[in-house]
Amino acid sequence: MTHKMPELPYAKDALEPHISRETIEYHYGKHLQTYVDNLNKLIPGTPYEQASLEEIVRKAEGPVFNNGAQVWNHTFYFNTLAPKPQQEPEGELREAMEKKYGSFDNFKAEFEKKATGLFGSGWTWLVKDASGNLDIVNESNAGNPLRSGQTPLMVMDVWEHAYYIDYRNRRADSVKATWHLIDWKKVGERF
Ligand code: MN
Repeated sequence: MTHKMPELPYAKDALEPHISRETIEYHYGKHLQTYVDNLNKLIPGTPYEQASLEEIVRKAEGPVFNNGAQVWNHTFYFNTLAPKPQQEPEGELREAMEKKYGSFDNFKAEFEKKATGLFGSGWTWLVKDASGNLDIVNESNAGNPLRSGQTPLMVMDVWEHAYYIDYRNRRADSVKATWHLIDWKKVGERF
């Protein structure tokens, strides 16, 4: 089976000024395209030739996992962002967040601490466990919380390629800017 590029759910310049058109052109247009192409080159003749992307994320190892998970993670990431999102969580997600972190602002502070503290390349996730409890987890490289039985709700990409054009070395500024784009309506639906 051939894995395809996911559609970008907005125009390439729609996330400006927080994420530039140029970043999207490289991040979506080149980095993600390369992961898709690599995955399609790697799977023929392996047990994952006919596997769904999620099965690859859950079970594969090595280069098939790395490229497959990067396709899954980026698809999820680009679909977590929106040009004019619902700016704050509501309903049950809001209640769960306030129970765990005290307030939305405290949650954001915890998330920022985790995202800026991740050494090297990776992803900072908001997840829920089997009992519905929220947690913030860091995964290095292509890591994905589905492998630990957690449900991904929201993610920020903290690989340098996600922010270097717009923010150079300033990951913390990139994380802060990304709050403007997180679609809490979508995150609430996942919860
Ligand atoms: Mn990326």
